Amino acid sequence: MDEDRKELLAIARLARAALAFQAEAGITTFARAKGVPAAPSAPGAKAAAVRAAPRPPPPAPEGDSVRVAPAAAAVQTTLFGPPPTERSAPSSPPAPTREDLSPAEAQARLEALRAEIGDCKRCRLHERRRNLVFGEGAARARLLFAGEGPGEEEDKTGRPFVGRAGQLLDKMIAAMGLRREEVYICNVVKCRPPGNRTPENDEMRTCGQFLARQIRIIAPRHIVCLGATAAKYLLSTDQPMGRLRGRFFTTPDGDRVMPTYHPAYLLRNPSAKKQVWEDLQKVMAEMRE
Ligand code: SF4
Repeated sequence: MDEDRKELLAIARLARAALAFQAEAGITTFARAKGVPAAPSAPGAKAAAVRAAPRPPPPAPEGDSVRVAPAAAAVQTTLFGPPPTERSAPSSPPAPTREDLSPAEAQARLEALRAEIGDCKRCRLHERRRNLVFGEGAARARLLFAGEGPGEEEDKTGRPFVGRAGQLLDKMIAAMGLRREEVYICNVVKCRPPGNRTPENDEMRTCGQFLARQIRIIAPRHIVCLGATAAKYLLSTDQPMGRLRGRFFTTPDGDRVMPTYHPAYLLRNPSAKKQVWEDLQKVMAEMRE
């Protein structure tokens, strides 16, 4: 198969996935994030206009607090859980200072981090895992998706979001006018909790340090928290997803964090796709700025 034909097939797949998700969400428009190369035959060529959410005031210069955007309630919270002094003893150094790395440098840092994690036994989740699921995608992605932990397919393959929920996430990404390889996809814990149970707090605290470091390296402008567990952990809040989703949180580094429903939840509750699409549109609007 020649390269042109492969590219056309890839574009067709992307367009079909985007349209499928939008149709399931009851949406009739298609949008494209700024800076994404145009796909000539994709419906994304006619991007829908989405109203940009107002930007928050400049982030606080220091600290780990996450400030809610002005339109939302004034909640002070902390990214990646309680301050380090309140955490259970970390088994690795703290996250490095955010740096302006080239894609190659960031990729090298990610590979070094993966090597450092090694055959990790820092928490009990190692006992029944088959493969550790580090994460994958562009080393300097502008958009990062964070779920709570690997499922059965992910445990089998060592790749994040490749089961049914992952296929739906692929459709969501395509509906945003992006390709999977243009974003970064990972989880709070990197080993599958037995029976797909929710990760325990101590497991998330132990493993979350690696996600924190991934985010520091990748330095995405936008983070989408997939599901209540990831959102509550990253934002250090007990608020229900119904109150968290749909509004931005801003980190001291200026990252914009959007909680939304997990694709697995959408498989059980397809009517929530419309709300997820609304959340993703807000992210897309800022990515186009
Ligand atoms: S979940 Fe994270 S901390 Fe626990 S064993 Fe796996 S990689 Fe290590």
